[in-house]
Amino acid sequence: MEILVCIKQVPGTSKVEVDEKTGVLKRDGVDSKMNPYDLYALETALRIRETSSGNIGVISMGPPQAMEVIKEAYMMGVDRGALISDRKFAGADVLATSYTISQGIRKMGNVDLIICGKQTTDGDTAQVGPEIAEYLGLPHVANVLKILEVKDKSIVVEMDMPNTIEVAEVNFPCLITVEKDIFQPRLPSYKMKLKTRDKKIETICLNDFEDRDENKYGLNGSPTQVERIFPPDANTDRETWTGSSEEISDRLIKKIKELKFV
Ligand SMILES: Cc1cc2nc3c(=O)[nH]c(=O)nc-3n(C[C@H](O)[C@H](O)[C@H](O)COP(=O)(O)OP(=O)(O)OC[C@H]3O[C@@H](n4cnc5c(N)ncnc54)[C@H](O)[C@@H]3O)c2cc1C
Repeated sequence: MEILVCIKQVPGTSKVEVDEKTGVLKRDGVDSKMNPYDLYALETALRIRETSSGNIGVISMGPPQAMEVIKEAYMMGVDRGALISDRKFAGADVLATSYTISQGIRKMGNVDLIICGKQTTDGDTAQVGPEIAEYLGLPHVANVLKILEVKDKSIVVEMDMPNTIEVAEVNFPCLITVEKDIFQPRLPSYKMKLKTRDKKIETICLNDFEDRDENKYGLNGSPTQVERIFPPDANTDRETWTGSSEEISDRLIKKIKELKFV
């Protein structure tokens, strides 16, 4: 089976400045790491390979430094990695990002199962996975909690719906996005780090795509207009209460109700 995992490099800190003109995060020079939710997607792929065999590829869209997350995936045991990177992709919103990644996936060749994380810790929209699937015309299931069975031509999964848990069987090729805790992600291995030190990372740019229409990528291909981005005001109000434990706990319950937390 050919499995492809989408992984994104995200800032390792919440202290990222915003370009006031474009409303885009200034990511240059900021510490970065693999989107934590994508570690669960990677682990899911590795577990499926252990029981059903096959190959695992990873794909990431980002600037050249995003190769670091591909190297990390190699250290976890992934077979193949590609970075989609081109200045023409800068300023892409969710729609343009998903279209770009879908074109990158087409370039990588046949795939049976695409696995994405549930969401990222920076953009946080949880839309990229389903949008990639729509662009590729594939069936997809989001918020997968458990892999129940991997068959020759389909996968059976448990998905988290708002009020229920549903079981779905989806034919390959398909895309799933997985919940945190589906499996405990393994740590990158030092042995694998040495073994994969010179492992090739493919790079994919606009010229490699089937669709090279520049109007569909980057800022040109992004219908989203960001009017303003600003950090939320920090609420520094404090109250100090004194009294017996019973008095304070009664007051705490009243306050929680007053603030409509319950
Ligand atoms: C107007 C506008 C301009 C923007 N300009 C830029 C910009 O210049 N540079 C920039 O970096 N961001 C930019 N962004 C943010 C960018 O659009 C999002 O980071 C991107 O769409 C991913 O969305 P998300 O983080 O919400 O992913 P989610 O939908 O929350 O991610 C779900 C899953 O999809 C996969 N995935 C998501 N993104 C990637 C990726 N890049 N590569 C591989 N897999 C991925 C992962 O598996 C992830 O777990 C811009 C956004 C807007 C609205």
